[in-house]
Formats: sequence, C-alpha cells, structure tokens
Amino acid sequence: LVERMGAFTSTIFAEITQLAVRTGAINLGQGFPDTDGPPSLLADAAAAIAAGANQYPPGPGTPELRSAVAEHQRRFYGLEVDPDDVLVTVGATEAIASAVLALCEPGDEVVTFEPYYDSYAAVIALAGAARRTVPLRAPAFGFDDDELRAAFSARTRMVLLNSPHNPTGAVFSRPQLARIGELAAEHGAVVVADEVYEHMVFDGKAHLPMATLPGMAERTLTVSSAGKTFSVTGWKIGWVHGPAQLVAAVRAVKQFLTFTAGAPFQPAVAGALALPNAFYAGLTASLQAKRDLLVEGLRAAGFTVFRPSGTYFIVADGAPLGFDDGAKLARALPELCGVAAVPVSVFADSPAGLEATRSLVRFAFCKRDAVLAAAAERLAGLR
Ligand code: PMP
Ligand code: GLN
Repeated sequence: LVERMGAFTSTIFAEITQLAVRTGAINLGQGFPDTDGPPSLLADAAAAIAAGANQYPPGPGTPELRSAVAEHQRRFYGLEVDPDDVLVTVGATEAIASAVLALCEPGDEVVTFEPYYDSYAAVIALAGAARRTVPLRAPAFGFDDDELRAAFSARTRMVLLNSPHNPTGAVFSRPQLARIGELAAEHGAVVVADEVYEHMVFDGKAHLPMATLPGMAERTLTVSSAGKTFSVTGWKIGWVHGPAQLVAAVRAVKQFLTFTAGAPFQPAVAGALALPNAFYAGLTASLQAKRDLLVEGLRAAGFTVFRPSGTYFIVADGAPLGFDDGAKLARALPELCGVAAVPVSVFADSPAGLEATRSLVRFAFCKRDAVLAAAAERLAGLR
C-alpha cells in the first residue's frame, strides 16, 4: 500500500458492523436503513432489468436521470441546472473522490470540518493534498470564526463542506454558509457541497444548498445520493452538478475510475426523484419521529444527547455514565448491552478535533421503531 494511504487501511463502519454481527448486537453504527425505499422505485429497477437495461449506460449517466436531477434542484431549491452539467456517479463517495482528484494538485489544501465523513481524509490523502480542519464542538457543533479563517491559506484549493452534517447532525445556517462562501471566494477555492442528507432536515426547517447563496453557484459542486433519499444505500447511485468547466474536470476523472454507474438503477432513481412532495415530507416526518424516540432512549439511559437538526445520526456523550473514551465505549458497547455505535473520534485527527470528540459516540436512527425501542431498552441496562 502506498505510504499516503497507510493511515486508511480499514473503515470504522466495516469494523463495527462486523462486531455487531459477531455479537448479535442491534447495529446503530453504520448508517443504513433497515427498510427499503419506495415500492415503485424497487419495481422500476426490476422492470428495467427485465427490459434489458443491463449494459453500460452513457458514461455521464442516462439523459433521463440527469434531467430528473436538474428538475429536482429546480423544484426544491429554485436552482437552474443544465442536465449536461449533471454527472451520475457511483454514490456520493465517487463524486467526492473524483472532485478532489480532479481539482487538487499535490500540496494543495482542502478545508473541511472536523469530525468529517471518513472518506474525505482518505481521498484528500490519495490526491496528495493536505487537510486543514475546523473543529465543530458540542453542544451546537458550530465553528469558531477565527479557527475557520485560520484554516484558509494561499494554498487553499477546495472547501469540502457537509450540511446536514454527518456525524454531528448539525445543519449550517445561512450566515454560516455565507461566511464559508465568502472565505472560499476570497481564496479562489471551489466548494464541494456534500448534501446527501438534504431531505433530512427537521423541526420545520428547510435544507439550504450552498449553490443558492449569492455568487456561489459559479464555484460550487453540489453532491447528493439516491442511497440516502430513497433508502437504497446498496445501489450506489449518486450525482454531482455545478459549473460546466468544473463538472467536465470531475467527469474526466470519474470516467477512468468506474466509467459509468448501475444501468437498471438509473431509470428507477429518475422516477423516484419525481415522486410527489408527500413522499419527501413523509420521509422527513418519519425520521424526525425516530430521532425523538432515540434521543429519549439515550437520555433515559444516562447519556448527554445532542439533538440533531438533520441527518439520521445522533451524537451522544458517554461521560455522564463514566465512559470518557468514546473509542473504547463503542468497541465495548455490543458486549455491554447489545447495541453497536461508532466512536466520533475516528472522524477527527487534529488535537483540537480529538479533544472535541473524545467521549462522543454516534448512533444511527434510520431503523424500524420496534428496533429503536429494543435498542433503548438495552441501553437502559448500562446504568
Ligand atoms: N457523504 C456523507 C456525509 C455520508 O454520510 C455518506 C454516506 N454514509 C456519503 C457521503 C456516501 O454516500 P454514498 O453511499 O452515496 O456513496
Ligand atoms: N455513510 C454511512 C455512515 O456514515 C456508512 C458509509 C459506509 O459504510 N462507508 O454510517
């Protein structure tokens, strides 16, 4: 393995999922729903296979799906997107990886927030670029303006932004996004906005895409994924859109990583993107109720809980229960009470980031209510 990848040999999700399977624990570690997406979506993919959509689709994605993504962006956010400037990818993961590899030279710097989704650090390292992180601290998981400013330099090439934010559940406000955008513009940096949790924003608030802020569309690559919105994480259909020149650069890399993405899934996802608003509202409402269920369960078990504004993750602090080390707690939890979670500190590496996440663990709540209730009952045994 090349030296620059040495620190990234296995993902925490694989480790914790294996542990959960081995111990029979309820797996609230890796974030994946335990029910499949809308029946029409599943039927459409099966029908597409039967109808022969089984060979390479066009490299950038089927025209139908690229148009559906553009139409979705218009419907929900008023964004005008040319379907030619949409690139279909193998999940959001490939969109992010291709963007970083396409736009960052060795030695360039990428500003990102810490804790960060694990693939960010790995792909920045793969590109030979350097990570400049800004810590997000409990309880609100906002950033300090001085720390944000200090993360930018003459070498800043990109800001890799994720809102709603995994793992903290934070949703950046308009002023926060505007400040990030202002600094990106000042430094001539591209923003890659990972918005995979766009339809999981709670308490009546709406998702705010970075590309809708004044002056930001011209420097923003927006990323999302069918895996999250339609509860089909195993299908690995994502996309990225943005200014033609930037998308062309990302396409140049993507075509040699995977060339294209799952043929029969593309027409199915195109159809799902056009589902009526009731589908999207139902998803948000259902997850908000699940959030509340697990927040209550974790509080009753004795954790300090940071109620998330978005995503399907809850960050909780084990310190009140006597667990000061989240990494140890997450690895012991399946044996202790039959529930699996992931440590938040694995999404950090700077001294400030490690300090801010030391005793935190992350629980996923995209599970059936009965499963969440059973998990809450088991967690209550921790006291
Ligand atoms: N970004 C974030 C913030 C995520 O949480 C995830 C999924 N866990 C991804 C990207 C990857 O999405 P996909 O499965 O579509 O590759
Ligand atoms: N994105 C999911 C999470 O944060 C899982 C991703 C993965 O397994 N690589 O839990």
